[in-house]
Amino acid sequence: MKILLTNDDGIGAPGLWVLAAELARVGDLVVAAPGEERSGAGTAISLRKPIWVQQVASQVEGAQAFSVSGTPADSAILAISSLFPGEFDLVVSGINRGSNLGHDVYVSGTVGAAMQGFLHNIPSIAVSMYAYVDIDFGNAARVAALLARRVGTGELSAPMLLNINVPNLPACDIVGIDVTRISRKNYCDRIEKDYDSSGEYFTITRNDELDDAVPGTDLWAVENGRISVTPLPDRAVSSEFISTLESIVPAIHAEMCGLSS
Ligand code: MN
Repeated sequence: MKILLTNDDGIGAPGLWVLAAELARVGDLVVAAPGEERSGAGTAISLRKPIWVQQVASQVEGAQAFSVSGTPADSAILAISSLFPGEFDLVVSGINRGSNLGHDVYVSGTVGAAMQGFLHNIPSIAVSMYAYVDIDFGNAARVAALLARRVGTGELSAPMLLNINVPNLPACDIVGIDVTRISRKNYCDRIEKDYDSSGEYFTITRNDELDDAVPGTDLWAVENGRISVTPLPDRAVSSEFISTLESIVPAIHAEMCGLSS
């Protein structure tokens, strides 16, 4: 199978390459990612602007790697529609440094890039870590690779967009893998005003506002030591697909723990 890997933290991000190493063992891997960090780019694409694509050295043997001057979604679109048209069986985005939970999915570049795969009817997976420091990407990479194998066997197939968030715990301390819905985790936007030589400017930063950590949600799962797998678009997923996913994840959890030793 042929796999596209992208992200929003940029082509040099450590999480990208830990995941690349695992996915290269599952299929023929192409990495195409923004040349610099584009977190928060969501589903944005660069319309009617030049985008430069440069082949760069891969940190994983056998994979091809491309640095893209545009957004995460640009990277996915160019790889899917121009660099390797019709070739990909799976799109994976991540591993993001920091979680993408609740309302994050509407602004996340990690999810936004995976969304392009979904919109091209390719099974797609976004992967994020519920941590910002001292991150061990190993479990998230293994889970993504185990799910990729299920796409390879046809157990999982399009239409499919999975948003995965992984707690930063040793593999066998992870309680389980939950199939979840998105929480109402939202943000209070903090706007700051400042001045420089060209005049007044603004910066936007975000604070957590509402944590709706009720059982069944993505936030509850990661706060309780579980990996969250949310099928998207929320409420537009068939009950058959959710049943299939729920029947698969216990084995993936067991394999993830076994592989880590
Ligand atoms: Mn990011």
